[in-house]
Amino acid sequence: VLECRDVWKTFGRRPGTPVLRGIDLDVAEHEVVVLIGASGSGKSTLLRCVNLLEQVSDGTIRLDGEEITDPRADADRHRQRIGLVFQSFNLFPHLSVLDNVTLAPRRVHRRARGEAEQAAMELLTRVGLADKAREYPDRLSGGQQQRAAIVRALINSPRLMLFDEVTSALDPELVGEVLALVGDLKQDGMTMVIATHEMGFARRVADRVCFLDRGVILEQGPPEQVLDDPVEPRTRQFLRRLV
Ligand code: ATP
Ligand code: MG
Repeated sequence: VLECRDVWKTFGRRPGTPVLRGIDLDVAEHEVVVLIGASGSGKSTLLRCVNLLEQVSDGTIRLDGEEITDPRADADRHRQRIGLVFQSFNLFPHLSVLDNVTLAPRRVHRRARGEAEQAAMELLTRVGLADKAREYPDRLSGGQQQRAAIVRALINSPRLMLFDEVTSALDPELVGEVLALVGDLKQDGMTMVIATHEMGFARRVADRVCFLDRGVILEQGPPEQVLDDPVEPRTRQFLRRLV
C-alpha cells in the first residue's frame, strides 16, 4: 500500500541537520507498523510527510504504486485516501460531533447531507458514540473526542490510517477505549502506521516495530524481536530508559 524510498527531510531553507535521513519503509495491505523512538527522532515528521502536510526534501513516497510526492500530483486527492489522527483531536468546537464528522464528505466529496450523515451514524454507532452525535465536542470526554476524531478520518474510507500519539493527551483511564478502537480497526484489516510511546500497545497491535533513531530506521522486525531482544545497542538503551 505504502512505499517510502530514501525519504529525506530538512526543515528551513538553509540546509541544517536533516530530521529524516533516508527512510525506506514499505507497508503491505492489512499490515500494522508501529514507529517507536526517542522524542525528536522524526516519527511525527515521517507521518506528516506521508500525509503531505510536509514536503519531502528528497526521495519518493508511493501510495498504491502512485507517486504522491510528485510535485505535479494532486495532493488533496491523495490526502483523502490517508487518514491522520493526532494527539490533539482538532475537532471544531462550534460544530456538533455529527457535523465535524460529515464536514469533509460534504465539502470535499460533495456527498449529500443525508447520505453522509447515514455513513457517519453507522461509524459513530460502531465506536459507541451514536448518542453523542448532536453534542458539541466540549461535552465529550477526551476519549470520546478522540474516537470522534478517528471516525472523522474513517469516513473517507481511507486506504491507510496514520496515528500520531493518539493517547498521549488522554487521562490514563481513557487510553484503553481509544486503543481498543485501534485494535478493532486492525481486526477489520485496516492498514496502519502508528507512532506511540506505549510499548504495551505496540506489542499488542504491531505486525512490525520500527525503531527510529535520529531520522534513520535503525532496527525493525516483529515486536517480540525488537522489544525483547533488540540487536542495536541504541534500541536497547532506548527501551531500558522507559522502564
Ligand atoms: P516526539 O516523540 O516528541 O513526538 P518525534 O519523533 O515525533 O518526537 P518530530 O516531531 O518528527 O519527532 O521532530 C523531529 C525533529 O524535527 C525535531 O528535532 C524537531 O525539532 C524538528 N522539527 C519538527 N517540525 C519542525 C518544523 N516545522 N520546523 C523545524 N523543525 C522541526
Ligand atoms: Mg511526535
